[in-house]
Amino acid sequence: MITAPRGLLDILPGESFAWLDSARWHVLEGELRRISHQYGYSELRPPVFESAELFARGMGATTDAVQKEMFTLAPRGDEEDAPVFALRPEFTAGLVRAYIEHGLHNQTQPTKIFTYGPVFRAERPQKGRFRQFNQWDVEVFGAQDPAVDAEVIHIGIDLAGRLGVTGLTVELNSIGCPVCRPVYREKLKDHFRPVLAELCPDCNTRFDRNPLRLLDCKKDAAHPAMATAPMMVDHLCPDCSGHFAQVQRHLGELGVEYRLNPRIVRGLDYYTKTVFEVVHPKLGAQAVVWAGGRYDGLTAELGGKPTPGVGFAMGMERILIVLNELGVALPPALRMDVFVAALGEPARQVCLPMLYRLRSLGLSADIDYLGRSLKAQMKLAGRHHAKFVIIVGDDELARGVVKLKDMDAGTQGEVSVEKLLEAVTGQ
Ligand code: ATP
Ligand code: MG
Repeated sequence: MITAPRGLLDILPGESFAWLDSARWHVLEGELRRISHQYGYSELRPPVFESAELFARGMGATTDAVQKEMFTLAPRGDEEDAPVFALRPEFTAGLVRAYIEHGLHNQTQPTKIFTYGPVFRAERPQKGRFRQFNQWDVEVFGAQDPAVDAEVIHIGIDLAGRLGVTGLTVELNSIGCPVCRPVYREKLKDHFRPVLAELCPDCNTRFDRNPLRLLDCKKDAAHPAMATAPMMVDHLCPDCSGHFAQVQRHLGELGVEYRLNPRIVRGLDYYTKTVFEVVHPKLGAQAVVWAGGRYDGLTAELGGKPTPGVGFAMGMERILIVLNELGVALPPALRMDVFVAALGEPARQVCLPMLYRLRSLGLSADIDYLGRSLKAQMKLAGRHHAKFVIIVGDDELARGVVKLKDMDAGTQGEVSVEKLLEAVTGQ
C-alpha cells in the first residue's frame, strides 16, 4: 500500500472529513471567487512550476521559503541545459512575471488580480503547516494609493466575516522604503552590534543580510536588546509616514480594527511601506491566517518597469481549520434538487427514466443503486442535502403517482407523474 507523502493532503468527499471535506472547499472557493469579482479583481492562473530563479529573485534568495523550502525539479535526462524548475512556493513572483511578460501594464491601471490553488514548501509538517497547501492570493499592480492597501486588507477581513470567522486580529506595520530603510537599518545594526555574540547563529547571519529580521527571531525574543531596539515606524521618511497614516485612516473608515505591531517585518525582501499579518489564536504556533503588504520594488527587480504592488496570500487550510475549531457550520455548497427513492425493482424501472429526465432538465438528481431500504435511502438523500425526495413503491406505481417530500418545508404529498416536474421546479 503506497500512502500519500507526509505533509500532503487529500481533500475528501464527505462531512466526516471536517475541514478536509471538499464541500467546505467549494464554499470557500465560491466565496473567494465571488468577493474577488465583487471588488473588481480578475483571475490570473500562473503555472504550477516555473524557473527556480524567478522565485529566488522574487522572494529573496535568503528567505527560508527559497533557501530551505523550495521543491526543485531534477532536470530530465534530455533537458540537462534547461533552467532548474521549482514548484511554486507562492504566487506573487509568478503573477508579477506574467504581468510583465504579457504587458498587462499596458492595460488600464491598476491591474487587480486574484488567483488560488496549491503551492509547495518542503517544511516540517505540523498543525496548519503542510508541504502542499492552498493560497488565495490577491494583488494590485500599478497603484500607490494608500486606499488600495486598505482595500487589500479589507477584502480578506470581509471574506473571513462572510464565512463566519470571528476573533481575528490584523497586525499592521510599515517597513519604510529605499529612502528611509537603509538609514534605519544602520541604526538597528549599531544597536545590535555590541550584543551580537549573545544572539543565535541565524540572527548573526541576518545581521549582515537582512537585519530587520532580527526583530522577528523566535529564539532571541527575550534578549534585553530586543525590547530596546529602535523601530522602523519611528524612522519613516515623510512619504512613508504620510502613506502609513492614510492607510490607517482608510481602515478606520472601513471599520477594520487593527493593532499596530512594530515588530512585523515579514520574511521577504521586496516589501515596502505597509506590511500586515492577520492572526487567529485557534491556530497555535502557526497563528498567521494570511499576510501581505506593499512591494513597490518587486516588478523592477523581476525586469519590468518600476510598478507599485500590494497584495496578500491567505492560507486556505488555515482559514478552514479556524472555522472548524470555531464550530462554524458552512452552508452546503451544492444541494441536490431531487433524490429519487425507488422501492423494489418494478419501481426502479419507472424511476430511472424519471431520473434521466430530471437531469436532462438541468436538475441535480440521484438514485440508489444498491437496493437499500427506504430508511437508508432517506439517509442518502440527507447526505446530498436534497431539496425534494420522490418516493415510489408498488402502491404508487399502481396508481401512477409519486410521493413527494419537500425536505425544507417538511411536508409530503402525492403528485401524478405528469405533474411531478412542475412540482419540483416550482413552475
Ligand atoms: P509562516 O510564518 O506560518 O511560516 P509564512 O510567512 O511562510 O508563514 P507566507 O509566505 O506569508 O507565509 O504565506 C502566506 C500564508 O500561507 C500564511 O499566512 C499561511 O496562512 C499560509 N502558509 C504558509 N506556509 C504554509 C504551510 N507550510 N502550510 C499551510 N499554510 C501555509
Ligand atoms: Mg514559512
